[in-house]
Amino acid sequence: MLATEAVEQNAYQVALENFDLAANALELEENIRAMIKYPERILTVSIPVRMDTGRIVRFEGYRVQHSTQRGPAKGGIRYHPNVTLDEVKALATWMTWKCAVVNIPYGGGKGGITCNPKAMSMGELERMTRRYASAILPIIGPEKDIPAPDVYTTPQIMAWIMDTYSLNMGYPVTGVVTGKPIGLGGSLGRNEATARGCFYTTRSSMTHLNIPLEGARVVVQGFGNAGSIAATLFHEAGARVIACSDTKGCIFNAHGLDIPAVVEFKKVTGSVAGFPGADWIRPDELLALDCEVLIPAALENAITEENARAVRARIVAEAANGPVTPEGDRIFDQMGIFLIPDILCNAGGVTVSYFEWVQDENHLFWDENDVNAKLEKIMVRSFNDVLKIHLDKRVNMRLAANMQGVSRVADACRLRGLYP
Ligand code: NAD
Repeated sequence: MLATEAVEQNAYQVALENFDLAANALELEENIRAMIKYPERILTVSIPVRMDTGRIVRFEGYRVQHSTQRGPAKGGIRYHPNVTLDEVKALATWMTWKCAVVNIPYGGGKGGITCNPKAMSMGELERMTRRYASAILPIIGPEKDIPAPDVYTTPQIMAWIMDTYSLNMGYPVTGVVTGKPIGLGGSLGRNEATARGCFYTTRSSMTHLNIPLEGARVVVQGFGNAGSIAATLFHEAGARVIACSDTKGCIFNAHGLDIPAVVEFKKVTGSVAGFPGADWIRPDELLALDCEVLIPAALENAITEENARAVRARIVAEAANGPVTPEGDRIFDQMGIFLIPDILCNAGGVTVSYFEWVQDENHLFWDENDVNAKLEKIMVRSFNDVLKIHLDKRVNMRLAANMQGVSRVADACRLRGLYP
């Protein structure tokens, strides 16, 4: 077995383990567990693509609908060499609890193609995306399952999916995907939404823990959509972002990085590495920096039993999905580190995706202040709901968020009366 396979199988095991912990804490009846624990529908598709050389290469793609108990399935599509069915199942499962935590009327889904988009031309990416969209077309749609971007998928890729779906239906269907370009039914504020949600929930945590935002030291692992915009928001709010990283390197400045300049630098060079006015540090040093807030915003399993003890942050805000493993959680509990779990911390993205879908279906669009104000209200309320469970039931924040999500899905299941 490849090392990456072990990691990805682990992601689904983690998702199942987290469900069991929440179900046990809720004393959930077996009938309901059987109804809501496992994916409802799994589709594997073969995607032959003509490459620019004229050769046909076959890729494998997936779409998993974990739950439609509370509404249509909802979740992103990931293009990455390490995508496996188990990883997609894990991500789909997390989407179900995430949508329930922020109480938006969706179930959970996820998709992916095992590929290396960085090594593909725009033409190859477009042909692969359209073929994949055609292959999953029977199970997606605004009332059934609404994909969105995830790692290495973009608004342009969503536009191709929207177009492929619409050509098949014979009329434009903007509500079939979210995260589209603004000119094609996208929502203002969607691009920044994940980071904004992370910012709002972290700010609420700081209020709860009596940590001032002004001057707080923030460390960001992963400087993509979620990470770079979170860094910008903290910088604008007066915090000091002292370190950040991407796949090519980590940079550090104890006085605080000039984040708008780092964003510009990355735009031009493709990486934060080599940014002038900062020192190089190793990835393990970045995670071990003394700081108020650590934001893992890259991929799964960044913090494990191997490195969790080195973390010296007061708050860990999971902008990424699944960056802290269950062993990492246990160590954080012992160390008294306050964790904002992914299904709460990064739920701003799916929340504004929901706003986008509502706007598309109503053909009526909101201004950005409206979007941000509605997002803030949902994120702050959701944080307080989860915090209350954490304090009342004396469980950690991960378990509290999972209990919130699982109990809402269980309630919907009971109301629908689907069990014998
Ligand atoms: P992205 O592709 O824009 O950015 C990922 C960044 O992480 C890149 O800068 C990459 O260089 C960096 N990276 C990858 N491996 C790394 C490593 N080992 N060390 C340091 N940096 C590394 O992706 P994104 O959309 O920002 O997503 C990041 C995470 O947030 C993912 O887990 C994703 O599932 C999650 N997420 C994103 C959204 C969203 O709306 N974008 C919503 C919810 C959750």
